[in-house]
Parts: sequence; C-alpha cells; structure tokens
Amino acid sequence: MHQLIAELYPICRSITGDGFRQTMEILRRHIPLKIHEVPSGTRVFDWTVPKEWNIRDAYVKNAKGEKIVDFQKSNLHVLNYSIPIKMQVDLGNLKKHLFTLPDHPEWIPYRTSYYKEDWGFCLSHRQFLTLEEGKYEVIIDSTLENGFLTYGELFLGGEKEEEILISAHACHPSLANDNLSGISLATMLAKHLETVTRRFSYRFLFIPGTIGAIIWLCLNEASLSRIKNGLVITGVGDSGDITYKKSRRGDAEIDRAACHVLIQSARPGRILEFSPYGYDERQFCSPGFNLPIGRFSRTPYGEYPEYHTSADNLEFVYPEYLTDSYLKVRSIIDVLENNRVYLNQNQKCEPQLGKRGLYSSIGTNEIALLWVLNLSDGSHSLLDIAERSGFQFKAIKEAADMLLKACLLVEQ
Ligand SMILES: [Zn+2]
Repeated sequence: MHQLIAELYPICRSITGDGFRQTMEILRRHIPLKIHEVPSGTRVFDWTVPKEWNIRDAYVKNAKGEKIVDFQKSNLHVLNYSIPIKMQVDLGNLKKHLFTLPDHPEWIPYRTSYYKEDWGFCLSHRQFLTLEEGKYEVIIDSTLENGFLTYGELFLGGEKEEEILISAHACHPSLANDNLSGISLATMLAKHLETVTRRFSYRFLFIPGTIGAIIWLCLNEASLSRIKNGLVITGVGDSGDITYKKSRRGDAEIDRAACHVLIQSARPGRILEFSPYGYDERQFCSPGFNLPIGRFSRTPYGEYPEYHTSADNLEFVYPEYLTDSYLKVRSIIDVLENNRVYLNQNQKCEPQLGKRGLYSSIGTNEIALLWVLNLSDGSHSLLDIAERSGFQFKAIKEAADMLLKACLLVEQ
C-alpha cells in the first residue's frame, strides 16, 4: 500500500483532468476499474459538472529572473483550479494571491478554488517573509475548458444482489494520508475480494470528493436500494487511533459491525456519531438517500496539523498503520459476510453436547456454543450474539459452524 501511495504521490490530481485519469490508469494495473467520463455542464441535482482543469507548469519569478515558487518542485504551490495567467505584478498585488500557514512556517498549504475562477500560489510562510518589493512575473500554464469529469468504478458480483459500497476520494494532489491512503487501501481490498467467494456484491468508487459522490448518486438513483452497507475510506495511514463515524441511521448493520470490531480490538479506537460534515458520507447520508454508509479513518481530518499541508507526505503515512487499517476493514467485512440468523433445532433444554463430541470440559469455546444455542431462536443474528455475550464475532461464528456441522442449527 505504501508503494502505491509513493507511486501516486507526485501526480497533480484535481476534481477533473489528466492527473485524475493518470491515477485511475495506475489503479487499473491492480484492479479492472471501469472509467466513466461525465461531460462538463451536466446537471446533477443542484450541482453542475465543472469545466475540466489541466496544468502543465506554473511559477513566480523575481526581478532577478529567479524562479522563487515552482510548480515543478511541488504541485501544492499552485492554487488547485487556477485559471491561466501570464503577467507582471508588484509585491502588493502578488500578495493578494498568496497563501501561507503562519502557525507552521515551513509547510506549504493546500488550497483549491473549484467553483470561483481565481488564481494563486501557496508557499511556506518563512519564504513569504523574505519577499522583497519589486516586480514579479507570474505564469500559470493551465487550461479550464469544457471537457469531462472522470471517475473509476469496480463492481464485483456476489451470491446476493445486495451490495457493499466502498468509496474513496481521489481528487487531491500530493497529499498522502488525505486521499492516497484511502485509495490504496480500497485498491488492495478490491484486489483481495476479487479472489474470494463473496456472499454480497461489492462496488468500489474512486471519485472526486463531493461532486463525484453527487454525480454517482444522481446517475445511479434507480438502483440505490441494493446498497445494504458501505464505507467511506480515507486517512488510514497516520499513527493515530482508528476512528469510525456512524452513518446517519446510527444503528445500521455497518455501524454495529464496525463498532464491534473496534471495541474488540487491542487498541479500541474512537466511535463518532454522525454529523453532516466531513467526506462523502455527507452526500451518501443526505436525507433523500440516508444510505447505511459510515466512515472509516484514523485521526479525523482537521484534528492533525499536517492535514491539507505539504507535511501530509510520504513520511506521515506508515506501512504498519496502513496494514492495521486494512486488517480492521477486512474484519468488518468478515462480520458482514458471515452475519446470519440461525435456528436452534433443540430448543427445549440444552442439547447434550457431550455425546456429539462438543463438550470436552467447560472452556471459552463451550461457553460460546451455549450462547449461540441459547440466542439462536430465529430472531438474533450472530452479531447480536457477539454483542450480547462479549465474545469476538469470530469466536461466535466458529461456534455456529460447529453446531451446524452437528445438525443443531439451521440457517433461518
Ligand atoms: Zn481533503
């Protein structure tokens, strides 16, 4: 995952344009993504697909002809979606178009202007303080024209038509945790799920934040009832605790599965209630859809100072935390795949486990068997039983498998 992040890191992505396409092409080396192109100007609910933005170069030169801010050194130096510009400005006018972070004077901020035509440069505050009076040459060799908005989608069919949706935003330039970590985890998860038997169908989305989710919802409104559960995955490579944000419903199966996995893990992490701010859960959980989709991340955006700055780089994301996040998401999916309701075939008193070879001596395993037998009355799922007994879902599932083999359970 870290290698894929490193490969994608230098690309200047935005909500449209060749950087996004190039990113999808790299993901297609791992998974057979379908690429969609939606024309600029397309109306999607209350929004309009913007013009396509592409950039080749940008810089600020001082009076001595030295490039003091250079897009080739970091794509964060340019206000993302800057209109083309070629002019001479004095320092006072230049400063109106400069963005810095006085609290973190060494870092370059990440700024965008998607829906208001503007231009600008981002630089370290330390460098900003050294700028001298005089003429500056500013060049932004970009285009903002009618074109397309691109997104990637992968559908993996399962035994059921019901779908689990996994969504990652892919519109940020050189930012490792915000955007690339989620893309990388989702790609590796898709690669794994492709190879296994699936009870549910899976749909993976790699979309530009906000507008991408709005487009996908608008184009797929007729089939949204198939979405049984889902996760927005983002910010999964930093060293902070795992944080799960519940869906708007609050008690969806995905909320309960994620909370169960987090509570049962050695480092339990944080559970947040739904709020109408954040990533694309905002669109998926808008009242007109209210989809059962939560958000899986580590430190929430805005709670780490490196967020939306040049310090969210390849050193900010760690292979070990990416792995931990990946395994937690796999555990959540395991719960969803295996969460079934069974019916105890011997409900009048306990069945005699000993004669079936299921009762050697009282141990954890036997207690899990007793929980499954007692609550498998047709109205409790394995997740209900795990929650109520305090056992890990995996232990309850293993107990259910043993009882099924002994013909003491049938699937409801
Ligand atoms: Zn962001």
